[in-house]
Amino acid sequence: MLLKHKTALITGAASARGLGKATAKLFADHGARIAILDLNDEAARAAAADLPGEGHIGLPCDVTSKPQCDAAAKTAIDAFGHIDILVNNAGITQPLKLMQIEPQNYEAVTDVNLRGTLYMAQALIPHMRDRKTGTIVNISSVSAQRGGGIFGGPHYSAAKAGVLGLTKAMARELAPEGIRANAVCPGFIATDITEGKLTDEMMEQILAGIPMARAGAASDVAGCCLFLASDLSTYVTGSEVDVNGGSLIH
Ligand code: NAD
Repeated sequence: MLLKHKTALITGAASARGLGKATAKLFADHGARIAILDLNDEAARAAAADLPGEGHIGLPCDVTSKPQCDAAAKTAIDAFGHIDILVNNAGITQPLKLMQIEPQNYEAVTDVNLRGTLYMAQALIPHMRDRKTGTIVNISSVSAQRGGGIFGGPHYSAAKAGVLGLTKAMARELAPEGIRANAVCPGFIATDITEGKLTDEMMEQILAGIPMARAGAASDVAGCCLFLASDLSTYVTGSEVDVNGGSLIH
């Protein structure tokens, strides 16, 4: 049990096959109480009820809205008494080429992935500062490191690269206050984020670029989040951890 008596808030964790839900489940298996945040209230509550153990909660929160992030953080702190761990997992992607990116595509993708990560962190940092402890795990992507080439377009790569910069800056600023911040860079993981837009040809190309010759599983990413969220990683901050089957070795 690596997270006994710990509490975690995980954004975008209602998606049944998603990275957030797998992380929530693994954290709960390790004794944590979880607040699942997602766009849909009912789905968030159902996902929380589906976790092992007692006392988890599901809350509605659009991470692109600062008031909603603040309200959800307050509700979770009131419910649990404290929050130890934040996983900024909510994200969307779009398979567009450079010249296909319209203003609304840019806004949608950078808002959820990057602005949402900032807002949710801002909602919890004062609480973590007061307690002089906390760990933040931000989900970036291999797309940030290699300029896409998996599924998401350049705006997704840019947003996820922004998450890396934000994570490192957070780590630098918050380290003296006992708060750690790290990023996870998943490669291609079989979830529903591709919304049925992944063709067989795309899949073949992706697999050809993975030395381990398989898509990742959501549990592969959850394990890495558990390491970064737990006391196994007490001297790790500002890092970007690759979970990509070797698709980027650098
Ligand atoms: P998913 O689509 O299964 O889950 C994403 C969740 O985020 C959904 O539950 C969705 O409702 C929620 N969400 C979307 N917009 C939101 C908003 N504004 N506010 C709150 N919640 C919102 O996707 P996934 O594959 O589990 O992705 C999780 C994270 O991992 C994302 O940040 C994604 O970019 C990243 N990632 C995924 C992969 C992959 O291959 N699946 C690879 C690298 C990075």
